[in-house]
Amino acid sequence: MSTSGMFADLPVEVGLAYEGERIRKPQMHVELGGPNVKEKFELLRVKSPEEVEDGKITIIGPDVQDLEEGSSVPFGIYIEVSGDKLEVEMEGVMERRIHDFCNYIEGFMHLNQRDSIWLRLDKKAVKKGLNFDVTGKALQRLFKSEMSIIEKMQITFLTEPVEVKKKFQEALDIYEARDARARGMTDNDVDVFYGCTLCQSFAPSHICVISAQRYANCGAISWFDGRAAAKVDPKGPVFEIPKEKCLDEWKGEYEGINKIVSEKSLGEIDRIQLYTAFDYPHTSCGCFEITTFYVPECDGLGVVHRDFKGQTPSGLTFGGLADSTGGGRQVNGFHGISFEYMRSPKFLQVDGGWNRIVWLPTEVKEKMKDYIPKELYDKIATEDDATDIVSLKEFLKEKGHPVVEKWVEKPPDAIEAQTLEAMPVGTISGVGIPSGGITIILKNAKIHAEKVIIKRAK
Ligand code: SF4
Repeated sequence: MSTSGMFADLPVEVGLAYEGERIRKPQMHVELGGPNVKEKFELLRVKSPEEVEDGKITIIGPDVQDLEEGSSVPFGIYIEVSGDKLEVEMEGVMERRIHDFCNYIEGFMHLNQRDSIWLRLDKKAVKKGLNFDVTGKALQRLFKSEMSIIEKMQITFLTEPVEVKKKFQEALDIYEARDARARGMTDNDVDVFYGCTLCQSFAPSHICVISAQRYANCGAISWFDGRAAAKVDPKGPVFEIPKEKCLDEWKGEYEGINKIVSEKSLGEIDRIQLYTAFDYPHTSCGCFEITTFYVPECDGLGVVHRDFKGQTPSGLTFGGLADSTGGGRQVNGFHGISFEYMRSPKFLQVDGGWNRIVWLPTEVKEKMKDYIPKELYDKIATEDDATDIVSLKEFLKEKGHPVVEKWVEKPPDAIEAQTLEAMPVGTISGVGIPSGGITIILKNAKIHAEKVIIKRAK
């Protein structure tokens, strides 16, 4: 693929050179979806040939130049494809490519997936002629050049709020039906897992390992989706990972995973344990739907999703915590995951599963209602119960959350001392503390700490 100017007839350039382009608020003409808008989605469906008119682009609602400058609007992209070799199971993986292909377009920023998409169009690019017709043409050509099995494609862009709302509900139902397919299957039932390296352009050492019971971090690719994609294009970004010897069934460590992860991360990561947020956790790129965060004062884990706008009891927002989590690293307690993994019986089983979760936003609690053990539901705090560490500890104690039992076992000093260990762990790349004195070397450090305690050894 050339780096720019792939399609001479389009008014903006299209190519890999534009991937990673960030559009700040003052530069943006308009924001489509994003955290300020509830109804937003991208959806790709496989249809029969007679249902798809190849090359057709439909715009329901105002086009880009007619949207109010600086505004955030409800938005949907609905893509229909057909082709002899296409299977419905491939929808999820093809849909995920909307992200990278949109980012190839000059002046177009695309973040996230499904119903959390956040898009921005740059003022200069819109002045040059970037609109939905141009976007649609670029997407159709990029999809067809990368996936020759797509024979026909039509795209609908929606900005009319009532129409977005209608289709939004349909999209949610389809996501749920896709996710539900792998529920009930176990990692023991299968011989292979699937890997995905689509996010390596942002996080070079990151590989998603998609097992039946640990869904992809972005929440967009299931084990079935992985299987369909790997079958059609085994050398593509989604591929098979033979499990090989099981090294630890409880933690979810397999020889086959370690080999592939080591190879694809160029030796950066050499061990992954699927069902834990500590020691050798699955890496996190930047597309995770949710991140966990360790709360050392409670020895528990908080959970926060991308759309939560407030502060967690740690004092950080989702964005601040995501900085400590992402980038393809393994960071104790800071772990990028998907909603669907939270529905899995293997959800952080090594760390205590739901018994270790001490805080989560109301929206997530509601969404997970059927999966949180009944006896625990009222014991996990939300933003309505606790906004800082003190109120969180009080709440947990009052409700008798299981983590409180551990507080008794540990002297208060031991719990406090974990602050130094836990909070900055993901962002400090070098710390040395020799005996007889203190030397702290921080390289590429980005630190947020409520408290740092340094004690001289006796
Ligand atoms: S989050 Fe994982 S599965 Fe999803 S696109 Fe990125 S690498 Fe692939």
